Amino acid sequence: MVSHMLPVFGRLAAAVCLAATLATTAFAQSEPREVVVATRVLPPLVVDQKGALSGFSIELWNAIAERLKLKTSYQPAPDVRALLEEVRSEKVEIGVAAISITSAREVEFEFSQPILNAGLQIMIRGSGRDTDANPLTDLLGLLFSKTSLVWLGIALLLILIPAHIVWFLERRHNSGIIPTDKYIPGIFYAMYWSAATLATQAENQPRQWFARVVALFWMFTGIVFVALYTAQLTATLTVQQIQGGISGPDDLAGRKVATTRGSTAANVLRDLRAQVTEVARIDEAYEALQDRDVDAVVFDSPVLLYFAANEGKGRVHLVGVPFRKEDYGIIFRPNNPLRRQVNATLLQLREDGTYQQIYDKWFTSR
Ligand code: GLU
Repeated sequence: MVSHMLPVFGRLAAAVCLAATLATTAFAQSEPREVVVATRVLPPLVVDQKGALSGFSIELWNAIAERLKLKTSYQPAPDVRALLEEVRSEKVEIGVAAISITSAREVEFEFSQPILNAGLQIMIRGSGRDTDANPLTDLLGLLFSKTSLVWLGIALLLILIPAHIVWFLERRHNSGIIPTDKYIPGIFYAMYWSAATLATQAENQPRQWFARVVALFWMFTGIVFVALYTAQLTATLTVQQIQGGISGPDDLAGRKVATTRGSTAANVLRDLRAQVTEVARIDEAYEALQDRDVDAVVFDSPVLLYFAANEGKGRVHLVGVPFRKEDYGIIFRPNNPLRRQVNATLLQLREDGTYQQIYDKWFTSR
């Protein structure tokens, strides 16, 4: 009897085991694997909407992750160099933002298929229409430029210092350049004399012998001051005229150009011998351009186009076409099996129209 029962128990036990295995597998499948993704805000690829991330790259990755049943946790990086470092040092698994596929990066990382065609473009101030050119605003701009203000400051010092010396020495010579011995209005006469000496020649000269020596010395200072100021003004005007507008990458040599830190644009700008200002957030580059701290911003064309069509509308415009083509990709450490799955999913998304939907949402003007 007992020997008869054994196979029955055996089968029962096997069935229990099988059920348990199935249950664990099912449980494992319902618990998606988490992928930590480094990213960085660069509208419209990555947009920070009150703490929640969206944008073309984010929505594309979310669609991929959904198909692959992956759970994503995003980690924003301050610049692209930091982003790559996080992938390299295994702090995160992959990087999704506006990461250009380059040969240098390909040496130590692996990229997905391109997720977007991009490239470097130039952005400058102005709406790009003819109304931008106005000689009066150019003249006012020059008069109220930072350089002019510095020179004005120097001139003020050059007027105040000799005015006081001469006032002190001349205050008792009422028939000279200061007709009174009181500080006010005496000092104003002295300042008028000092300003006239600095600019050209004063009509009257002091009486007191030491004041005359000071006056002589000041006349020479005036000549040097006027010569230097003229030289500076001429140089500024010539530079403006010769360099004129920026119409292509070759015009960037020697010009002040802003871009993001560690970006492909920063490398290209150095090769072009531009004076590069590297900022962390692309917003800072836009601000520098509008504050006239730089002459141009060179960066990824989709990012610049988005700014020029939205916040920067009428205030900035893009020059020409992208002069260096680059594609964006998702970045992996070498030999991550996830890359193959991501590539296959990317193709599926292109084939079933999901890619186009996301593209249209972020890149066609609304
Ligand atoms: N496409 C640029 C790069 O990969 C983006 C730079 C950035 O994220 O600031 O270098």
